Amino acid sequence: MEKDQKNQNKRERGEFDLKPIADDATFRFSCHPGISCFNECCHEIDVVLTPFDVLRLKKKLGIRSDEFLAKYTVLQSFGTTEVPLLKLAVADEETRQCVFLGEKGCSIYDSRPTVCRNYPTGVASQDPTAGQSAQPYFIIEEDMCKGHFEGQNWSIPEWKANQGAAELDELNKPWLEMIPRLKSLRLKDDKDQKMNIFIMVSFDQDTFRSMVFESSFLDRFEVSQATADLLKNDEDELLKFGFKWLEFILFGEGPIRPKKQ
Ligand code: SF4
Ligand code: SF4
Repeated sequence: MEKDQKNQNKRERGEFDLKPIADDATFRFSCHPGISCFNECCHEIDVVLTPFDVLRLKKKLGIRSDEFLAKYTVLQSFGTTEVPLLKLAVADEETRQCVFLGEKGCSIYDSRPTVCRNYPTGVASQDPTAGQSAQPYFIIEEDMCKGHFEGQNWSIPEWKANQGAAELDELNKPWLEMIPRLKSLRLKDDKDQKMNIFIMVSFDQDTFRSMVFESSFLDRFEVSQATADLLKNDEDELLKFGFKWLEFILFGEGPIRPKKQ
């Protein structure tokens, strides 16, 4: 069996060679269209999406979030938990190539998801319910990827900044910190309703917008006129506001409060 085929099978089985990397260590890497393995990593994909990934992608495609979710994603739960995982869809089940892989490579490259930007780095726990803080980083080494033999040395922060992942991490931070806490909702009778709200606010941003501006939402929650104007005109701000509102809806915490009757 060819080495790359073996490696592909490892991907199919969800197995990777993960090499822990110390905070102050560097790794060598380069990825460019001239490399012999170009686009091989965009097959057998397992790309988990964050809310700001979805926002950037639906903007790039010029479509509504509900259309984006229906056409380009699949919603799963993490393992035996109820924690929702939104993943990029594949173009066909045989090659499991990414739905955005075109003849010239990634067709949405400047809006590619955080996971794609971070590659070949990741955090040690694959369990999103374990939280993000204090997770040691690792380097993903797959035989097919020749990028490890080229280019300059990078620290993890340098790589993340260069690829635009650091900015997305910062925007998604309040949401990522909420994920481990979703497990605590398991015993609540209204869990399903709360999970549906969590999924809508996180990923279906245009439906959330309609809820804020076309329902009694602004009569029911303390939102100043200046904030309402900002949310109307800035999708990033609306999503950040959504994260704060989720804190209240899910855990009864955070700065967004109902109006006193
Ligand atoms: S989004 Fe682009 S970079 Fe990421 S897997 Fe798909 S084609 Fe590859
Ligand atoms: S170098 Fe690695 S990341 Fe870049 S295209 Fe090749 S397999 Fe993908």
